[in-house]
Amino acid sequence: MLTIRQRDAVAALYPSQLVDASSPQFAKAQESFWNALQRENAPACFFQPTNAKEVSKALVEVIRANAPFAIKGGGHSSNIEGSSIHNGFQFDLCKLNHVRIAEDRQTVDVGPGQRWGAFYEELEKEGLIAVGGRDAGVGVPGFIFGGQFFLMSRSLVASTLLTRSICRWSVLLFQRSWLGYRQPCLCRYGTG
Ligand SMILES: Cc1cc2nc3c(=O)[nH]c(=O)nc-3n(C[C@H](O)[C@H](O)[C@H](O)COP(=O)(O)OP(=O)(O)OC[C@H]3O[C@@H](n4cnc5c(N)ncnc54)[C@H](O)[C@@H]3O)c2cc1C
Repeated sequence: MLTIRQRDAVAALYPSQLVDASSPQFAKAQESFWNALQRENAPACFFQPTNAKEVSKALVEVIRANAPFAIKGGGHSSNIEGSSIHNGFQFDLCKLNHVRIAEDRQTVDVGPGQRWGAFYEELEKEGLIAVGGRDAGVGVPGFIFGGQFFLMSRSLVASTLLTRSICRWSVLLFQRSWLGYRQPCLCRYGTG
């Protein structure tokens, strides 16, 4: 159970990024989990950071305060408490959902709140594509961290992966042509 002191350690830093039960955003954040049992968990608060610095500073405070916490990317884990927590501190990375393709089209930054469907749509506008999940609602981070259903899809994505962390990841991207998907180039995603 999260104590008020533990919650306030982050609230003091980023009050506007905290969503607690008194906020109308709280139910919306709970509903963003795919699994009904995950949706039933009521964290002490959702923390919705807007950049990597906020994630790292909050993580330091939460660990220093010895607070129980969970991290949610796309929220598609089918495991109970796979990415949710009851009465704990809930990192909700939904606002870290940018897709920034570099000018040279060799790299792209993608936030860990991004889901494969929306990510593909952004890449397709530029004639680019990456190897990833089949279900549009599945999140990019949990999929790559190894929570997939199918070993094959994991090994396909893992083989394009260059680096990974909570906030920064690198995978291969493919340029799309009318003949198919080919011409591998570098794709990098994360929050900075
Ligand atoms: C309806 C449905 C369809 C699916 N379809 C497919 C499919 O076609 N192919 C396939 O391979 N898999 C599929 N999956 C499985 C899916 O890939 C995994 O459930 C995956 O973990 C979901 O990723 P997420 O980011 O949405 O999950 P989340 O629930 O947000 O996270 C999953 C895990 O990753 C951790 N995590 C998330 N983000 C971070 C981060 N930034 N840093 C550290 N840890 C993090 C969470 O704490 C949690 O432990 C499907 C799942 C569902 C429910």
